[in-house]
Amino acid sequence: MIERAAGPALVIAGGTVHTPDGPRRVDVHISDGVITSLEERRSASPGPGVVDARGMYVLPGAIDVHVHSRDPGFPEKEDFGTLTAAAAAGGVTTVVDMPNTVPAVDAGGVLEAKAALAHSKARVDFGLWGLIRSSSTAEQLESLARAGAIGFKAYLGYAFSLGRKQILYTAETDDPDLEAPPDYGTLLRLAPVVSALGLPLVIHAEDPGILAAFRRPLDSYSAILAARPPEAEAVAISAAAAIADSVGTRLHIAHLSSALGLMAAEAALKDGSRLSLETCPQYLWLSDQDFPRVGNVMKVYPPVRTALDRAALIDAVDRGVIRIVATDHAPHTNEEKARPLELAPAGSPGVQTLYLSCLELAKRLGDMWKAPRWVSEGPAALAGVHESKGQITPGFDADLVLVDPRRGTEFRPSLMRSRQRHGALEGMRSSFSIAEVYVRGRLVAREGRKVGKAIGRMVAPR
Ligand SMILES: [Zn+2]
Repeated sequence: MIERAAGPALVIAGGTVHTPDGPRRVDVHISDGVITSLEERRSASPGPGVVDARGMYVLPGAIDVHVHSRDPGFPEKEDFGTLTAAAAAGGVTTVVDMPNTVPAVDAGGVLEAKAALAHSKARVDFGLWGLIRSSSTAEQLESLARAGAIGFKAYLGYAFSLGRKQILYTAETDDPDLEAPPDYGTLLRLAPVVSALGLPLVIHAEDPGILAAFRRPLDSYSAILAARPPEAEAVAISAAAAIADSVGTRLHIAHLSSALGLMAAEAALKDGSRLSLETCPQYLWLSDQDFPRVGNVMKVYPPVRTALDRAALIDAVDRGVIRIVATDHAPHTNEEKARPLELAPAGSPGVQTLYLSCLELAKRLGDMWKAPRWVSEGPAALAGVHESKGQITPGFDADLVLVDPRRGTEFRPSLMRSRQRHGALEGMRSSFSIAEVYVRGRLVAREGRKVGKAIGRMVAPR
C-alpha cells in the first residue's frame, strides 16, 4: 500500500508573531500548508524544515481585494504571472481581481474560464469579482456565485461595449455598440439578488450625473479635481447605501478618496448600514501637491485630492472606520502614461508596495501591528475567506510574511516585479523590508524575487 505523502512540515522559529492576541514570541508550526500550532520557544536547532526568523516579524499575508490583472485582455499592461510575482514579492498572498478584463466577467462561464487561466500562472492565491451590467439578470449573478465569485462590482457611469465585451471609460451611449452604464436603478433591481446570495456589492462611487455636469478639458491636475468633485463620491455613497439598506445588502465602497465621501459613509454607518470601506496607499501618502513631482503616474480615478482629504482618510484608517487598505493596482504601459494628461489612462501599479507602505504608516501612527488588520484581517472578512485566511492562528492557511525591521526599503523601479515598473509611491522609503513570503506553507518569494512555481489556487467565499 502506498502512503499518501504528507505535505512539507515547517517551523517558522524565533520570530515575533502577529497573533489575534497581539504580538507574541512563538514558533509557527505548519503541516500540509496549514498552521497547526503556535508554540512557546524551544531551542529548535536550525535544520531542514526550520526557518530561522530571529529578529523578524511574522505577519499574516496581505489580501489585496482590489487589483486589475489585465488578464485576459491587455497582456502588454500585465498578466496573472507578473501581477502575482509582484504580489508575492510584496507580501500579498491573495489577490482579488476586478472583472473588467476581456471578456468582462459577467457570467459564470466567463469566470470559470478566467479562473483556469489564472490558475495556470498565479504565484499567490486569488479570488475573482463578478461584474454587474445594466442588463445583468438574476440568473447571471447566480451563475457567477456558483462559479465562486467573491461578490459583484458595479462601475457607475462606465458603458459596456457589446462587440468587444469590455467596459469602457465613458458614459456615452449614442453608439449602438454601447450598453448603458449600470445606474442606481440597476442597483435597486439587483440588490435583492445580491443580498440573497450573501455576497458583497462593490461600487465605483462617483455619481455620473455630477461628473457629466463638471466635464471640462483635463489640461491640468486642478482641472481633474474640478471635473471629479468629492460631492460625486459622497452622493454615490449615500444613494447606494440607501438602496443596499432597503434589502440588507452588504455594500462595499472601493477606493474611498475624500473627506466628504467619508462623512457620507460615516453617516450611513451610524444609521446601521452594512457598509465596508476601502482606501488605497495613494490616497494615504499623496495629495494634489505631489503632482508636479510624481506626474501622470498619479492620475487615478477617483483622483488623489487635498492634504485635508488625506488627513481625514488616515484618521479613519487609524480609528478603524476604514477597515481595508487595498491598492487598485491598475497598470498601464509607460507609453500610455506618458501621453498628455488628458489622454493618459487613469490607474497605476501598487500591489508590491501595499504592505511596506502600510507598515510605515502604522509605525508613524504609533503601532505598526495595526497594519495587518488593514491589509489582511479586514480584507479577509470582505472576501468571505476569514475562516481560513487573514490571521496567524491554528487551522488557518500558512500565508505568512517575514518582515525585517532592521533593514529599510526604498521603492525603486528596479525592485518592481509588475510588468510596469513605475508607481505613484516611487522614491518613498519604508523602515521595513520583506524577507520571505509563504503561501500555504510554500515559499513564493525571498528578498523581492519570486521562488518556485505558480502554486496559486482560487479562493471562494463561504
Ligand atoms: Zn479599480
